Amino acid sequence: MATLRLLIVAGLPGVGKSTVLSKVKDMLQARGHEVEIINYGDFMFTLLKNKGLVKSRDDVRHLPLEDQRNAQRLAVKEMRNYLERKAASSTSDVFVAFVDTHVLIKTDSGLWPGMPEYVVKELRPDSFVLVEAEPKEIISRQLRDTSRYRADYADENLIKELIELMRIFAIASATLVGASVNFIKNKEGRVEEAAEELMKIVERL
Ligand code: AMP
Ligand code: MG
Repeated sequence: MATLRLLIVAGLPGVGKSTVLSKVKDMLQARGHEVEIINYGDFMFTLLKNKGLVKSRDDVRHLPLEDQRNAQRLAVKEMRNYLERKAASSTSDVFVAFVDTHVLIKTDSGLWPGMPEYVVKELRPDSFVLVEAEPKEIISRQLRDTSRYRADYADENLIKELIELMRIFAIASATLVGASVNFIKNKEGRVEEAAEELMKIVERL
Protein backbone atom coordinates (compact mmCIF):
# COMPACT_ATOMS: atom_id res chain seq x y z
CA MET A 1 0.00 0.00 0.00
CA ALA A 2 1.73 3.16 -1.22
CA THR A 3 1.06 6.78 -0.29
CA LEU A 4 -0.60 8.44 -3.25
CA ARG A 5 0.82 11.80 -4.33
CA LEU A 6 -1.36 13.34 -6.98
CA LEU A 7 -0.40 16.25 -9.21
CA ILE A 8 -2.52 18.06 -11.77
CA VAL A 9 -0.39 19.00 -14.77
CA ALA A 10 -1.93 21.50 -17.15
CA GLY A 11 -0.83 23.63 -20.07
CA LEU A 12 -1.91 24.75 -23.50
CA PRO A 13 -1.93 22.24 -26.37
CA GLY A 14 1.61 22.17 -27.77
CA VAL A 15 3.33 23.36 -24.60
CA GLY A 16 5.14 20.03 -24.22
CA LYS A 17 3.29 18.59 -21.23
CA SER A 18 3.47 14.99 -22.40
CA THR A 19 7.19 15.25 -23.15
CA VAL A 20 8.01 16.76 -19.75
CA LEU A 21 5.88 14.11 -18.05
CA SER A 22 7.51 11.17 -19.77
CA LYS A 23 10.95 12.54 -18.76
CA VAL A 24 10.01 13.08 -15.14
CA LYS A 25 8.49 9.61 -15.04
CA ASP A 26 11.86 8.08 -15.95
CA MET A 27 13.64 10.22 -13.36
CA LEU A 28 11.25 9.31 -10.54
CA GLN A 29 11.27 5.62 -11.44
CA ALA A 30 15.06 5.65 -11.33
CA ARG A 31 14.66 6.84 -7.73
CA GLY A 32 12.40 3.92 -6.87
CA HIS A 33 9.01 5.59 -7.04
CA GLU A 34 6.09 4.11 -8.86
CA VAL A 35 4.69 6.59 -11.38
CA GLU A 36 1.51 6.72 -13.41
CA ILE A 37 0.51 9.33 -15.97
CA ILE A 38 -3.17 9.52 -16.80
CA ASN A 39 -4.83 11.77 -19.31
CA TYR A 40 -8.19 13.31 -18.40
CA GLY A 41 -8.97 13.88 -22.08
CA ASP A 42 -8.58 10.13 -22.78
CA PHE A 43 -11.17 9.22 -20.14
CA MET A 44 -13.60 11.90 -21.36
CA PHE A 45 -13.08 11.03 -25.00
CA THR A 46 -13.66 7.31 -24.42
CA LEU A 47 -16.88 7.96 -22.49
CA LEU A 48 -18.24 10.36 -25.12
CA LYS A 49 -17.13 8.28 -28.09
CA ASN A 50 -18.88 5.22 -26.69
CA LYS A 51 -22.07 7.28 -26.50
CA GLY A 52 -21.57 8.29 -30.15
CA LEU A 53 -21.30 11.98 -29.24
CA VAL A 54 -17.79 12.66 -30.61
CA LYS A 55 -15.42 11.39 -33.28
CA SER A 56 -12.21 13.25 -32.38
CA ARG A 57 -10.67 14.56 -29.14
CA ASP A 58 -11.13 18.15 -30.20
CA ASP A 59 -14.90 17.60 -30.69
CA VAL A 60 -15.28 17.31 -26.91
CA ARG A 61 -15.04 21.03 -26.12
CA HIS A 62 -17.61 21.86 -28.81
CA LEU A 63 -20.36 19.71 -27.25
CA PRO A 64 -23.19 21.30 -25.27
CA LEU A 65 -21.78 22.20 -21.85
CA GLU A 66 -24.13 19.81 -20.09
CA ASP A 67 -22.68 16.84 -22.01
CA GLN A 68 -19.15 17.97 -21.20
CA ARG A 69 -20.00 18.39 -17.53
CA ASN A 70 -21.59 14.94 -17.28
CA ALA A 71 -18.55 13.32 -18.88
CA GLN A 72 -16.21 15.37 -16.68
CA ARG A 73 -18.01 14.07 -13.56
CA LEU A 74 -17.96 10.43 -14.68
CA ALA A 75 -14.34 10.62 -15.82
CA VAL A 76 -13.03 11.95 -12.51
CA LYS A 77 -14.68 9.11 -10.55
CA GLU A 78 -13.16 6.54 -12.89
CA MET A 79 -9.71 8.14 -12.59
CA ARG A 80 -9.72 8.36 -8.80
CA ASN A 81 -10.89 4.72 -8.50
CA TYR A 82 -8.26 3.59 -10.94
CA LEU A 83 -5.47 5.45 -9.09
CA GLU A 84 -6.58 4.21 -5.68
CA ARG A 85 -6.58 0.62 -6.88
CA LYS A 86 -3.09 1.10 -8.34
CA ALA A 87 -1.74 2.72 -5.17
CA ALA A 88 -3.26 -0.04 -3.01
CA SER A 89 -1.50 -2.79 -4.96
CA SER A 90 1.79 -0.90 -5.27
CA THR A 91 4.84 -2.24 -3.45
CA SER A 92 6.75 1.06 -3.37
CA ASP A 93 6.42 3.65 -0.57
CA VAL A 94 5.22 6.44 -2.79
CA PHE A 95 2.93 6.22 -5.77
CA VAL A 96 3.12 9.37 -7.89
CA ALA A 97 0.19 10.11 -10.18
CA PHE A 98 0.24 12.87 -12.76
CA VAL A 99 -3.08 13.88 -14.27
CA ASP A 100 -2.43 15.42 -17.70
CA THR A 101 -5.32 17.83 -18.16
CA HIS A 102 -6.50 21.45 -18.44
CA VAL A 103 -7.48 24.01 -15.80
CA LEU A 104 -9.46 25.91 -18.39
CA ILE A 105 -11.14 24.81 -21.59
CA LYS A 106 -12.15 27.08 -24.43
CA THR A 107 -15.71 25.85 -25.05
CA ASP A 108 -18.30 27.33 -27.38
CA SER A 109 -20.12 28.73 -24.35
CA GLY A 110 -17.05 30.41 -22.85
CA LEU A 111 -14.00 29.62 -20.75
CA TRP A 112 -14.89 26.64 -18.60
CA PRO A 113 -12.98 25.27 -15.59
CA GLY A 114 -11.36 21.87 -16.05
CA MET A 115 -10.97 21.62 -12.28
CA PRO A 116 -14.23 22.85 -10.73
CA GLU A 117 -15.13 22.00 -7.13
CA TYR A 118 -16.83 18.65 -7.88
CA VAL A 119 -13.69 17.54 -9.74
CA VAL A 120 -10.95 18.66 -7.32
CA LYS A 121 -12.85 17.35 -4.31
CA GLU A 122 -13.03 13.93 -5.97
CA LEU A 123 -9.41 13.91 -7.18
CA ARG A 124 -7.87 15.53 -4.08
CA PRO A 125 -4.64 16.75 -5.72
CA ASP A 126 -1.58 17.76 -3.67
CA SER A 127 -0.33 20.21 -6.24
CA PHE A 128 -1.12 22.01 -9.47
CA VAL A 129 1.66 22.38 -12.01
CA LEU A 130 1.24 24.64 -15.01
CA VAL A 131 3.65 23.97 -17.85
CA GLU A 132 4.27 27.23 -19.68
CA ALA A 133 6.31 28.32 -22.69
CA GLU A 134 6.80 31.36 -24.89
CA PRO A 135 3.72 31.90 -27.10
CA LYS A 136 5.94 31.82 -30.23
CA GLU A 137 7.34 28.42 -29.21
CA ILE A 138 3.88 27.01 -28.51
CA ILE A 139 2.66 28.04 -31.96
CA SER A 140 5.66 26.54 -33.74
CA ARG A 141 5.24 23.26 -31.80
CA GLN A 142 1.55 23.14 -32.75
CA LEU A 143 2.49 23.61 -36.38
CA ARG A 144 5.07 20.81 -36.24
CA ASP A 145 2.56 18.39 -34.73
CA THR A 146 -0.62 18.68 -36.78
CA SER A 147 -2.58 16.51 -34.33
CA ARG A 148 -2.03 19.35 -31.81
CA TYR A 149 -3.04 22.15 -34.13
CA ARG A 150 -6.01 24.18 -32.92
CA ALA A 151 -7.04 26.95 -35.28
CA ASP A 152 -8.56 28.97 -32.45
CA TYR A 153 -5.43 28.80 -30.27
CA ALA A 154 -2.96 29.84 -32.93
CA ASP A 155 -2.67 33.55 -32.13
CA GLU A 156 0.20 34.88 -30.05
CA ASN A 157 -1.79 37.47 -28.11
CA LEU A 158 -4.55 35.00 -27.34
CA ILE A 159 -2.00 32.47 -26.09
CA LYS A 160 -0.46 35.10 -23.83
CA GLU A 161 -3.85 35.94 -22.41
CA LEU A 162 -4.76 32.26 -21.91
CA ILE A 163 -1.52 31.64 -20.01
CA GLU A 164 -2.44 34.46 -17.60
CA LEU A 165 -5.99 33.15 -17.27
CA MET A 166 -4.73 29.61 -16.65
CA ARG A 167 -2.83 30.87 -13.62
CA ILE A 168 -6.00 32.42 -12.25
CA PHE A 169 -8.06 29.26 -12.87
CA ALA A 170 -5.33 27.10 -11.28
CA ILE A 171 -5.22 29.26 -8.17
CA ALA A 172 -9.01 29.20 -7.87
CA SER A 173 -9.06 25.38 -8.11
CA ALA A 174 -6.10 24.84 -5.76
CA THR A 175 -7.72 27.06 -3.15
CA LEU A 176 -10.73 24.73 -2.96
CA VAL A 177 -8.59 21.83 -1.71
CA GLY A 178 -5.49 23.48 -0.22
CA ALA A 179 -3.16 22.30 -3.00
CA SER A 180 0.06 24.11 -3.93
CA VAL A 181 0.54 25.81 -7.29
CA ASN A 182 3.67 25.87 -9.45
CA PHE A 183 4.49 27.44 -12.80
CA ILE A 184 7.17 25.65 -14.82
CA LYS A 185 8.77 27.03 -17.95
CA ASN A 186 9.40 24.50 -20.73
CA LYS A 187 12.08 26.32 -22.72
CA GLU A 188 12.87 25.29 -26.29
CA GLY A 189 15.37 22.41 -26.28
CA ARG A 190 15.51 22.32 -22.47
CA VAL A 191 12.82 19.88 -21.52
CA GLU A 192 15.23 18.20 -19.03
CA GLU A 193 15.28 21.36 -16.91
CA ALA A 194 11.51 21.47 -16.75
CA ALA A 195 11.41 17.77 -15.82
CA GLU A 196 13.97 18.32 -13.05
CA GLU A 197 11.99 21.19 -11.62
CA LEU A 198 8.90 19.01 -11.58
CA MET A 199 10.81 16.18 -9.90
CA LYS A 200 11.86 18.52 -7.08
CA ILE A 201 8.27 19.57 -6.55
CA VAL A 202 7.20 15.92 -6.24
CA GLU A 203 9.97 15.11 -3.77
CA ARG A 204 9.08 18.07 -1.56
CA LEU A 205 5.40 17.24 -1.26
P1 AMP B 1 -6.08 16.99 -24.48
O1 AMP B 1 -5.78 16.03 -25.57
O2 AMP B 1 -5.31 16.76 -23.21
O3 AMP B 1 -5.98 18.44 -24.92
O4 AMP B 1 -7.61 16.77 -24.03
C1 AMP B 1 -8.62 16.60 -24.99
C2 AMP B 1 -9.92 17.25 -24.55
O5 AMP B 1 -10.40 16.63 -23.36
C3 AMP B 1 -9.83 18.72 -24.21
O6 AMP B 1 -9.86 19.55 -25.33
C4 AMP B 1 -11.09 18.89 -23.36
O7 AMP B 1 -12.23 19.00 -24.18
C5 AMP B 1 -11.16 17.57 -22.60
N1 AMP B 1 -10.63 17.68 -21.24
C6 AMP B 1 -9.39 17.38 -20.79
N2 AMP B 1 -9.28 17.62 -19.48
C7 AMP B 1 -10.50 18.08 -19.06
C8 AMP B 1 -11.05 18.49 -17.80
N3 AMP B 1 -10.34 18.49 -16.67
N4 AMP B 1 -12.33 18.90 -17.78
C9 AMP B 1 -13.07 18.91 -18.89
N5 AMP B 1 -12.63 18.55 -20.09
C10 AMP B 1 -11.36 18.12 -20.18
MG1 MG C 1 -0.48 16.11 -24.51
